[in-house]
Amino acid sequence: MSNGILIVDDASFMRMMIKDILTKNGFNILGEADNGLKAVEKYKELDPDLVIMDITMPEMDGINAVKEIKKINSNARIIMCSAMGQQAMVIEAIQAGAKDFIVKPFQPDRVVEAVKKVLS
Ligand SMILES: [Mg+2]
Repeated sequence: MSNGILIVDDASFMRMMIKDILTKNGFNILGEADNGLKAVEKYKELDPDLVIMDITMPEMDGINAVKEIKKINSNARIIMCSAMGQQAMVIEAIQAGAKDFIVKPFQPDRVVEAVKKVLS
């Protein structure tokens, strides 16, 4: 892994929780964004190895952010972070190019497993 991970979620406690899980497991967190528009900007700026992307956010949602990031880098690695009951949106995100998804509330092991799998 050369760069690190970009965490995108409009809830600061959720970003903190994901950051904590990943840092404890030896991953480097490059940056954070609290909406899809900022996620696209940060993606361009930081060139992360992986993005963990919330779905429901103000300004631009996670689905459209995936589409925009894929235009920048068709090989971009993105894991969706969805709430329960968002299956249709998860499918749309996967079709747009997301590699995997985790469902809130998640177990730390599941987050680490998804990140390792997508980065391998
Ligand atoms: Mg959200």
